Amino acid sequence: MDELPSPYPAYQYGACGCGDTFEAHLVEVRLTVGDQAIVLRDVPQGACPTCGSRVYKAEILELIEAIFHGDLPLQTAPDPAPVVSTS
Ligand SMILES: [Zn+2]
Repeated sequence: MDELPSPYPAYQYGACGCGDTFEAHLVEVRLTVGDQAIVLRDVPQGACPTCGSRVYKAEILELIEAIFHGDLPLQTAPDPAPVVSTS
């Protein structure tokens, strides 16, 4: 597996239901919160090269959901956290 760049830990996503193993990627996640388009950059994600299933670590999913629901001030995301920018 390719080594992920700092500051992210080298997440392991384990085995997919199809029998292959999830590969770690960094992706962009786009959200719309109210009237605001939010882009989360370098979000750690696991993707299965065989069936295309995608998974997130629980803490990453919680962070995304917290931002989506407006529960988390964008400039005070916990570290390590995706870089948040608005467009
Ligand atoms: Zn799979």
